[in-house]
Amino acid sequence: MSLAILWACQKESRLETPPELSEEIKGLSEWYAKQIIPMENPDAFSKMNQPSWESTKMIKKGDTLLFITLVYGKEKITRELHSSYHDGVYNGVVRQYDFGFKDSLSVGTLTLNGRLIDMGFFDKDSRYTLTALAGNKNLVLMGTETINGGTLPTANVPPPPGNYNPPVIWIPPTNPSGPPSGPPPGPTYPPSSGTGGGGGGTQGSNGTAQKFNKNDPCANKKELNNRKKNSKILAKNNEIKNLTLNDGPEKGLEHGYNSYINLNNGNITRFTNVEVGYATGDGGQEVPSYEAWNWLPNNQVEVTADYSHTHPFESGPSAMDVFSGIFPYMATSTGSMTALSPAQKQTYLSYLSNNIMTTNHDYAITITDPAKWVSRYPNMAADQDKFKKMFRKYENSGYDGHTAQELALLDLYGDMIQLYRSDVGKANFEPVIYKVDPKNFRKFISNINC
Ligand SMILES: [Zn+2]
Repeated sequence: MSLAILWACQKESRLETPPELSEEIKGLSEWYAKQIIPMENPDAFSKMNQPSWESTKMIKKGDTLLFITLVYGKEKITRELHSSYHDGVYNGVVRQYDFGFKDSLSVGTLTLNGRLIDMGFFDKDSRYTLTALAGNKNLVLMGTETINGGTLPTANVPPPPGNYNPPVIWIPPTNPSGPPSGPPPGPTYPPSSGTGGGGGGTQGSNGTAQKFNKNDPCANKKELNNRKKNSKILAKNNEIKNLTLNDGPEKGLEHGYNSYINLNNGNITRFTNVEVGYATGDGGQEVPSYEAWNWLPNNQVEVTADYSHTHPFESGPSAMDVFSGIFPYMATSTGSMTALSPAQKQTYLSYLSNNIMTTNHDYAITITDPAKWVSRYPNMAADQDKFKKMFRKYENSGYDGHTAQELALLDLYGDMIQLYRSDVGKANFEPVIYKVDPKNFRKFISNINC
């Protein structure tokens, strides 16, 4: 018996912005202009910074909007405005990333007018160490000088423990002169020259993740099964399944995470934090997905590859689930997101898989027609409604809940996705399609013969 009223789940928390500046970004730019102290000196920090509002990256997290805007980028130095909007109030800091060092990436946090707040660096394993806090010292950066910690007191807060995972985004402290509330995020905008990265995807011989081929579901099933067997992924999947299904405070809630791979060697490097689904008010749940394309020291590129989430009930992937991870691929330079180059987008998509773990099957989705995928995205909400109606119709004609959802999904999107199905917890994905039984003209789900 299906609990099909509950539909699932993953919807992006990133927002789309029309080519015109959105109200939010207009508001941000007006706020920014008011914060800037007028300066004659062309080398003044804020005078050198020219925010490119049209490429501002906007992310919604809870009821807070987060923005990243490139304000300066020349040679080895980029500066990003990291700001937030909550309850009618904007806050922001500028981060200066200095790519001029061989084995580390130096990061300074400054006020909008160039007063230094703190500094630190990411090492080659992208661990962050905070080296100095400006405290009450009034150090104002001029020109493009690199930040020299020699004159600053050593940080009096302990550096983050162990293997620190830089968050995709970090909410700047509300009081910019106070102690930092967390380590800074890695750079969003690479330097305009220098780190290339883009078309990458060369794997080392031990590479864990290989590319998918949009035309070869049989090769893809092997790759999906290999990833699923990976001990780190296995552990993470068990973690979110246990949170979803076992007795505990989050039982019955969906959980999800993104995995990162290093494009230079194919290794699965780390995971985003586990996100918990929250009720959407119409019986569904949403689990945020945070995709990222990160530039690491030494021309390394790290990118999110798999998005995996749970459903606590019998189901297939929902119509919305199909669009997990679309934003980096869809982003255009006229939109609100940083746009990857066409080659980078292709690379990003070639590693992307959507994994949905339910109580009856584990599912995976790869994209077979990216252009269609993008063109259908604006219809997502309407399609989700259609999906619900369709699978209920299938259920009413005698299909079990998950088959009804699989059929509805393939009716809607079979021309742009490949669906794979595996036993729960096992690495035995098979690509599936629907066929029609010639005897009774009923549809049924069938493996593609691989
Ligand atoms: Zn889902």
